[in-house]
Amino acid sequence: MTIVFIISAPSGSGKSTLVNEVRQIVSGLDFSVSYTTRPPRGSEQNGREYFFVSRSQFESMIQKDEFLEHAEVFGNYYGTARCFLQSAEEHGHDLLLDIDVQGAAQIKQKLPQAVSIFILPPDRQKLEWRLRSRGLDAEVVIQRRLVTASREIENYSKYEYILVNDRLEESVESLKAVLLAERAKHSGKPPGETEMKTIKKAECCRLSSIEERVKPILDSFRSAGTQKAH
Ligand code: ADP
Ligand code: 5GP
Repeated sequence: MTIVFIISAPSGSGKSTLVNEVRQIVSGLDFSVSYTTRPPRGSEQNGREYFFVSRSQFESMIQKDEFLEHAEVFGNYYGTARCFLQSAEEHGHDLLLDIDVQGAAQIKQKLPQAVSIFILPPDRQKLEWRLRSRGLDAEVVIQRRLVTASREIENYSKYEYILVNDRLEESVESLKAVLLAERAKHSGKPPGETEMKTIKKAECCRLSSIEERVKPILDSFRSAGTQKAH
């Protein structure tokens, strides 16, 4: 059975970096390339990061019920085409969706078995730094993404796994552990020693294990909001 993994994160947390790394080391994992009406950024290519379409093309796809979910993010449409799930099922692969919190909620409603993962930045300052260092967005866009991030991170506790992307190699290992632990659980076979270790590692990304780590991250966003309000 295909496992659908949902990954959400505030823009700039390092989600694309993490997903790209993990796709190279975990086999049998398809990636759903979303459709969007936003223009390509940097070196993005049509069909690789996204399918870039016009608003009217996107709306026509909505009419034809071609999306598993879709949402409006930063003033643009983004959507997951149904065909990616069909293809993953046909090939016996799992499917990774990089979608926002609205899309994640829609998928969870349609596919309650989907496994959700939320990526958090180490704190607001590091998120701002990463957005700047990426060098892709204008200052006004960065500021808008930071405001949206403060809102989005409040949804972290709705996700089954939470990962703080501080040191990249560690985050890649944690994400890999979550994917493999879920595969082990879904396999129906009793876990061996290696699987048990992986499951234990993945459990470190549960809310109950990570709550203390998350508090200062949330505070860094909340206090920035308070300062702005004064
Ligand atoms: P997202 O997909 O969440 O918008 P990106 O993957 O584009 O974010 O990452 C934003 C920037 O942060 C990029 O310049 C990336 O190289 C950098 N980055 C990602 N993960 C880390 C990390 N763990 N430590 C330091 N920088 C990182
Ligand atoms: P970006 O423009 O930075 O690539 O993405 C902006 C946001 O849109 C991110 O939070 C990303 O996860 C989300 N996103 C990308 N594709 C989809 C999609 O198909 N559906 C939904 N709901 N969100 C998406």
